[in-house]
Amino acid sequence: MKEKKDKKPKKGSKSTIGQQKPSVINPNALSLSTKSQRRPQTADEYIKGIQSGNRVILSQAITLIESTRSEDQALANIIVEAALPLAKESAIRIGITGSPGVGKSTFIEAFGKMLIAQNRKPAVLAIDPSSQQTKGSILGDKTRMHGLSQLKTAFIRPSPAGSSLGGVAKKTRETIILCEAAGFDTIIVETVGVGQSEIAVHSMVDFFLLLLLPGAGDELQGMKRGIVEMADMIAVNKSDGDRQTLAKQTKQAYKNALHLLPLKESGWSPPVLSCSALESEGIDEIWTAIGQYYQESQSNGFLQARRKEQARYWLNESIDHYLHQSFFENPAVKGAFDQIEKNLMAGQITSFEAARQLITIFKHKKDN
Ligand code: GDP
Repeated sequence: MKEKKDKKPKKGSKSTIGQQKPSVINPNALSLSTKSQRRPQTADEYIKGIQSGNRVILSQAITLIESTRSEDQALANIIVEAALPLAKESAIRIGITGSPGVGKSTFIEAFGKMLIAQNRKPAVLAIDPSSQQTKGSILGDKTRMHGLSQLKTAFIRPSPAGSSLGGVAKKTRETIILCEAAGFDTIIVETVGVGQSEIAVHSMVDFFLLLLLPGAGDELQGMKRGIVEMADMIAVNKSDGDRQTLAKQTKQAYKNALHLLPLKESGWSPPVLSCSALESEGIDEIWTAIGQYYQESQSNGFLQARRKEQARYWLNESIDHYLHQSFFENPAVKGAFDQIEKNLMAGQITSFEAARQLITIFKHKKDN
């Protein structure tokens, strides 16, 4: 059972994020409509609803993004394209990762409340590779972030189900655009620190935060170096009670470890901080440091360059994803697949030959 103290977030640590441009796109943004509402019929109705901050319509549009029906997908594409220019760049996208149990949802709860106290509008999305089979999700459990989900200025959306990480990541990226168009200015993308999904999340956020536990020795050994290299900040969570001394040692150990890594392209050296998500301690310091990063990387142009680089990455990813999907959905490929696979299993052909035969079928049937 979670034990949560409902401490009020501290004030006085206002970040400068997004101050150059107004962060609220529409004064009506986040107007709430909890009553059941007619589903919009046209793309225009969806866009108007999103732009006016109507969360029910925003949710319905996200459902279209997640739908596998081709009519829904076509409509979703129009909506996302129209939302893109409305999604102001002043919104910041923050990725949060860490092993299960490190305290991600507790952290996001405290962080989200602090953001709201500073008049920001957080949206929390998730990428959960483990949900792809089970259709469960890291945010699906209603008990997670319960307090935050009750607050009307926050928006929480569980991880979409999907057969591939690429598909789930595409949906999450599109959802980010819709949330920004709806006036949310702090987008938090959560993922479980267990593999490829960090790369996907890192490629869609401006800032990547890694949460770790006190007890450096084991973690440093077991941790994937790649994830540490991606991090723009490490926060040692659960720095409370008996763990405070250990947390201090851990912080120092990570600081030393980060010194050994090559300097980041941005010139930013990732700070190591500690916090207690449960007691809402150290959360505002984390936000202040994110603000410093934002300001620095915006003034030296790195933020814009990072987003451009991400756009290039997703162009390639999208092509891969589209080709992969259309290949396996192609009726001619489907028809020939079993036999060619049997030939492969029987040792009559190599994997390369099997692939060549299937690709030839795919190309031929597509051109006709
Ligand atoms: P997640 O799986 O990473 O989302 O982790 P949760 O947020 O669900 O937290 C896992 C457990 O750790 C829960 O029992 C939390 O109450 C507890 N927890 C989270 N943050 C803290 C913290 O800062 N201090 C302490 N003592 N416990 C925490």
